[in-house]
Amino acid sequence: MKAVRNLVHSVQSKHVSSPETLVERGLIPPDHFEAVTEACKTLPVRLTSHIAAQIDSQNLTSPLAKQFVPSPNETFVEDDEIADPIGDVTHSPVAGIVHRYPDRVLLTPVLSCPVYCRFCFRREFVGDGLLNNDDLESAIDYIRNHPEIWEVILSGGDPLILSQRRLGEIIDALDAIDHVAVIRVHTRVPVVDPHRVTRTLTDALKRKTPVFIVLHCNHADELVPEARDAIAQFVDNGFPVLSQSVLLKDVNDNSDTLATLMKTLVQCRVKPYYLHHGDKAQGTSHFRTALAVGRKLISQLRGQLSGLCQPTYMLDIPGGHGKIPAAEDYLKLENDGSWTVVDWKGNTHQYLD
Ligand SMILES: *Cc1c(COP(=O)(O)O)cnc(C)c1O
Ligand code: SF4
Repeated sequence: MKAVRNLVHSVQSKHVSSPETLVERGLIPPDHFEAVTEACKTLPVRLTSHIAAQIDSQNLTSPLAKQFVPSPNETFVEDDEIADPIGDVTHSPVAGIVHRYPDRVLLTPVLSCPVYCRFCFRREFVGDGLLNNDDLESAIDYIRNHPEIWEVILSGGDPLILSQRRLGEIIDALDAIDHVAVIRVHTRVPVVDPHRVTRTLTDALKRKTPVFIVLHCNHADELVPEARDAIAQFVDNGFPVLSQSVLLKDVNDNSDTLATLMKTLVQCRVKPYYLHHGDKAQGTSHFRTALAVGRKLISQLRGQLSGLCQPTYMLDIPGGHGKIPAAEDYLKLENDGSWTVVDWKGNTHQYLD
């Protein structure tokens, strides 16, 4: 059995990067080819061999297939969906920087990713693209010249697909800036390309300045043994690891799936940080849940799971106004000045200041 599985793995373990290959591999029916080719003009198709090997052409509604195999639905754009749903462009003072909150910036040294997630809200920007040396230097200068920047968030694209040398240079440059106290790296690499996580990579990130890893993971099925090993390398080397997930229709929009995801993350020593409400990126309406559904789910988790497993449900206000916690209200101020408090069973209590 093991030998057969290894063989299957070696036969299947090729990355997928064109609509033609999707048809050949039976991942889309031939009559989807045209619409999918159209969708891939905005967001290319790319699956690592690690992910491709886990997608079964007999089960195209699986959480992995839904996330990574393009769908004709992506060509359908709703009226209120926009190219830049959270105002990255308007908050970009120089190439490679998004500065929306005073004390922290996004630094996007690379725009490509090892996989392209079909719900990506940066879909208009990601694709092959690397910040050139001059732009990278200007971006770092911007950080150096803004002493109010306490934290630098490496995002993209996926910063962990950079060469270890390039990554090391960026971390060195940030480490040398006194006011940068914390570096955060947002990545999907441990779950989509776990073999990239090596000692050389963790060495490239390890400096005086603490580096937090924020793993992007949406379903417990992503946490196969190789992915768990990759995560463990970060944790064992002293990197705090948090997670962010996106609430996605037919992928993780029920409380059991979310509970399993959050518990599995904690068992991997990952602290769930944010559960994002889907942004209104063009062609992603088939992934979006109603806000009320997300609020209901998150209140179910409150009673169901350890505090360690609770992410904060976040809405990024369209237009670039920032993120806010979007959970249900547990407190209501009454006219007489008292508070009505709702517990996890839905029972109300009075609280007096
Ligand atoms: C999400 C985001 C951050 C980080 O926000 P936190 O709430 O600190 O995680 C910072 N800058 C931009 C532009 C963002 O979109
Ligand atoms: S890894 Fe992140 S930036 Fe890249 S395609 Fe997926 S969601 Fe978008």
